[in-house]
Amino acid sequence: MVIIKSLAEIELMRESALIVSRTLGMLAKEIQPGVTTLQLDRLAETFIRDHQAKPGFLGLYDFPNTLCVSPNEQVVHGIPNDVPLESGDILSVDCGALKNGFYGDHAYTFEVGEVTKETQKLLEVTKKSLYLGIAAFCSGNRVGDLGYAIQQYTESFGYGVVRELVGHGLGKEMHEAPELPNYGKRGRGKKFVDGMVVAIEPMINMGTKDIRHFKDGWTIKTADNKPSAHFEHNVALIDGKPQLLSTFDPIYEALGIESDEELPFKKTTSLA
Ligand code: MG
Ligand code: MG
Repeated sequence: MVIIKSLAEIELMRESALIVSRTLGMLAKEIQPGVTTLQLDRLAETFIRDHQAKPGFLGLYDFPNTLCVSPNEQVVHGIPNDVPLESGDILSVDCGALKNGFYGDHAYTFEVGEVTKETQKLLEVTKKSLYLGIAAFCSGNRVGDLGYAIQQYTESFGYGVVRELVGHGLGKEMHEAPELPNYGKRGRGKKFVDGMVVAIEPMINMGTKDIRHFKDGWTIKTADNKPSAHFEHNVALIDGKPQLLSTFDPIYEALGIESDEELPFKKTTSLA
């Protein structure tokens, strides 16, 4: 059952989402060759607690850490460890925060040092597909329209769309209905209605869509060991339109990147 949120609840959810956004922005400066993902995890946990929130993943389904960190061929759910990052790596960082009883949950794939053009393209296309998915999250559309938008764009580059992992509703639970596959058929599935809050999160592989599970019970990697990218935003449907609750702005500020990709989906405030 989809749990519809009031505007007041959506504002609380924005707070939770923005704590994650700021955590990712703080991490953006720290993600360098030589740094370990366990060091990043400790920084993130401290940062979240300093913002009067709780790490959203720690202990959830018995996950052992604050961050899911998935380098290179790892798709999602990687566990922080003491292996130093190297130049040329990419690192998907997924982070959750719980505040006022609501979860924030969003993710970004970072470049470590210098990465290949081929890998940069994977990141660029995956992030673009996230915004195509967000644009499709509007009244009149259905779950299948969002999946279709992500799938047809990313597959046009020959990339693989992971089937086993999907976006989801978000609220007092980390994973609520509906499931949001990053593939689908237009006009199919649940209708989008005002008050829905979702996590849209394309997981896109450079090669095959197929995945493998690590023996640790968590980590998921690509079957062909080619890289995988993951970008995630939290979005509310208000007056028929998608509105971002999370933002990559703190990441872009830290890295000196200029971007207007979020503008169509930002909350507009009246100047009157
Ligand atoms: Mg996530
Ligand atoms: Mg999620």
